[in-house]
Amino acid sequence: MIIINSIQQLKDQLLLFRKQKKSIGFVPTMGALHQGHLSLIENALKECDLVICSIFVNPTQFNDLNDLDKYPRTIEKDAQMLKKAGCDVLFAPEVNEIYTEQELELKRQKVEDTSWTEGKQVDFGSLDKVMEGAQRPGHFNGVAQVVSKLFRIVEPQKAYFGQKDFQQLAIIRTMVKQLEMPIEIVACPIIREENGLAMSSRNERLTKEERKRAGFIFETLAKMKKLKNNTSIAELKTFVEAQLKTESLIKLEYFEIADAETLQSISDLEQAKSAVACIALKIGEVRLIDNILL
Ligand code: AMP
Repeated sequence: MIIINSIQQLKDQLLLFRKQKKSIGFVPTMGALHQGHLSLIENALKECDLVICSIFVNPTQFNDLNDLDKYPRTIEKDAQMLKKAGCDVLFAPEVNEIYTEQELELKRQKVEDTSWTEGKQVDFGSLDKVMEGAQRPGHFNGVAQVVSKLFRIVEPQKAYFGQKDFQQLAIIRTMVKQLEMPIEIVACPIIREENGLAMSSRNERLTKEERKRAGFIFETLAKMKKLKNNTSIAELKTFVEAQLKTESLIKLEYFEIADAETLQSISDLEQAKSAVACIALKIGEVRLIDNILL
């Protein structure tokens, strides 16, 4: 596996690959890799000649600077895992390689920087206003900003994202469509720990006891799903809220049942072709999200 830190070096390498007519699959991550990330690499390896993984803890998508500071950084271990998984290139740039000082200053001043659209109209509609968008102002703009930059550098044929970040997937699909980027977005299923907890780099920050008890989140989502055919959405929501109240470690932020395409809340499952139940909560200082398709 080749490890590259500079954009120019990566572009030179990619040019060589393109001359050899190799198809390129791309997996953007923020590192602290786990089996969830590796499943994206595995899917990309099945479908593409070469797989590029990026590790970049993107400062513009954090609205909580404390969260950015505390984000785990384990680049050496990550590189070993990627090599073992068969990844071809690890792109691990420094912040100044990706962002200009001006862009970082806008972020510091909490000014939403939309220069990444390069003058094109990108309208996320209500996608970035609900759930994670409502809880974390500027988060999805930062995600779109960094992913558009990475897409323009790597120019992959396919890019792989986890359904764990369901709303992010919808944002990326919309961005690619509206910017007319010729990239296929591939959605990959959520990989879970043995107790059902969705794998996340943030799980490392839970104590052993918290991590064990966090299995209750998915247990509750799965129980709720079983009830869906003969229970109204209002009752499903009450059920989940009441269940989670019984676990003192969990502080619920939101639980929503939404149209899986528009992410708008629905009051009846008949209202959407497919629906998704999304949850965000805190265990101590650690914020976790999960979802289940209904
Ligand atoms: P992150 O490093 O958290 O930004 O995640 C990088 C990519 O890995 C995103 O597309 C995530 O949706 C995906 N991912 C993270 N956790 C999981 C998981 N448990 N299962 C599947 N994909 C995941």
